[in-house]
Amino acid sequence: MSEHSLTELQRQLQLQNEQFAERLRSELPVLAELASELQQTRAPESRRLLVVKIRERLHKLAGAAGTFGFARLGERARVLEQRASRWLDSSKPSVQAVAAFARATRQFASAVPLDEHTGTSQEPHELPDELQPGCRIYLLGSDAKAGASVTQTLRNFGYEALLYADFSALQEAIAQQLPDALIVGVQHDDELAPIAALQQQLDTPLPLLVIHDRFDFSSQLAAVRAGAQGFFCRPLDITQLENSLERCLNRQQGEPYRVMIVDDDARLAERYGLVLRNSQMQVQTLSEPQRALDMMHAFNPEVLVLDVDMPGCSGPELAQMIRLHDEWLRVTIIYLSAETDINRQMAALLKAGDDFITKPISDSELIASVYSHAQRARSLSTALSRDSLTGLLKHADIKDQLALEVQRASRSSKPTSVVMLDLDHFKQVNDRYGHAAGDNVIRALANLLRQRLRRIDSLGRYGGEEFVAVLPECSAEEARRIFDEIRERFAALSFNGFNASDARTFSVSFSAGISETDGKTAPGALLDHADQALYVAKHHGRNRVHLYVE
Ligand code: GH3
Ligand code: MG
Ligand code: MG
Repeated sequence: MSEHSLTELQRQLQLQNEQFAERLRSELPVLAELASELQQTRAPESRRLLVVKIRERLHKLAGAAGTFGFARLGERARVLEQRASRWLDSSKPSVQAVAAFARATRQFASAVPLDEHTGTSQEPHELPDELQPGCRIYLLGSDAKAGASVTQTLRNFGYEALLYADFSALQEAIAQQLPDALIVGVQHDDELAPIAALQQQLDTPLPLLVIHDRFDFSSQLAAVRAGAQGFFCRPLDITQLENSLERCLNRQQGEPYRVMIVDDDARLAERYGLVLRNSQMQVQTLSEPQRALDMMHAFNPEVLVLDVDMPGCSGPELAQMIRLHDEWLRVTIIYLSAETDINRQMAALLKAGDDFITKPISDSELIASVYSHAQRARSLSTALSRDSLTGLLKHADIKDQLALEVQRASRSSKPTSVVMLDLDHFKQVNDRYGHAAGDNVIRALANLLRQRLRRIDSLGRYGGEEFVAVLPECSAEEARRIFDEIRERFAALSFNGFNASDARTFSVSFSAGISETDGKTAPGALLDHADQALYVAKHHGRNRVHLYVE
């Protein structure tokens, strides 16, 4: 393609994206209106007609949004469309399912359509007084008692957990509404065969955890063949199960990968950019290697794609410069070059860099290669910046985050709350039930907090059994309400002791102190205030939440 026609193509694409954004601005309110009509409609036939109408609109959106730079919006429309189809196809369409569908569609349609390309899209700010809606988990298990206990524990964690006693009931539920994850308890490998078949019928297999009576090679193989991402043996350690659930749900809803491309051929860089953006990656392109370091600071890429031969500074030279900075150790560097001489490729890799791909490369090869590196870089990076036991921010990182939020609060003059939280009588827990049981408690609290708080909130493990939460746009009163509910749920969890002499189950509580600022208090003072309030909560008998007062 000539230079001229390629830039013309890009201009056209951009124009089309803008037009599509315009279309969304009129389309989404119509969809929201239809969804609220559906919420108020009781007559089955009118309801069906409305679902058909909504499905049509979702279908159009799902088809077009990805092409015009709204990939995530498109995906969500697709999921909703599938939900509508399942409801319409089902022989006994449930009232609950249609109500949930109407609610989800309204939520979806109320989001502000911003251009996802320009990076101006933001997480919608949920109402601070509303807890995150829990993820929906289906459980399949014939042991009613064990099933009920797992279900109850997951509910305490904030999941919407539903238990089914046999496969056909599960199948029916899935036909009505897809869960976010599936947990099955089995005694024999054969019981996993229908699950494997079910997974194959779905567009995307469900995240699956398997609980099995046996822990041998064939049972794990059967689980993997059914698409399992977690495998557990009885007696079940419920905190570990919850932990694994948390991990596979998080994997599903991650942020797009950030990729930076440096190629002195600007058209080529743009072309690669287009391809990767279409696969839901966030891309920054650059044709002057001299600007790469500044851009690294601004964009914070996870993967860097470097041309090898560039005037002024070669790819391997740039890679070596990047490797001078410890802060960029986590960035994966891939060379992209017409170089086919294997010896020269090796030489470049030895200096710095992680992989080599050769031009010309097909779109799908490019996507596959960059995607797999990004995935790996992301999981390594998460492992490094996060506390290994809980996956929460470490002490220094949560303090940085607090400083950022205080700055933001001073600009918006909206209240921000800080919560400091400490487990009650935790030394006794370790002494009685062992350190491993204590670790389980810490992890469970971290997971519960993550489940119950909003995505804009930050959470850190401040010390051994101390946590700090920063809640932007949330008053201390609201924070108190939220943490009181979390406190009750946490106290209701029951843990297994490992100590043979004291092998009972036990429960643990926490105390919390809360301070608030409109941006005029220094971060250090805010933490002090929350700590003082925590002290008062402890002093007044523990298992309570206290607000700081001057
Ligand atoms: P209080 O109600 O006053 O907070 O009593 P406490 O026993 O919890 O007292 P304190 O907060 O001072 O004790 C902290 C204990 O937490 C000490 C330590 O053994 C335990 N701990 C700290 N970090 C960890 C950890 O990573 N794992 C485990 N299992 N225990 C930890
Ligand atoms: Mg402590
Ligand atoms: Mg304590």
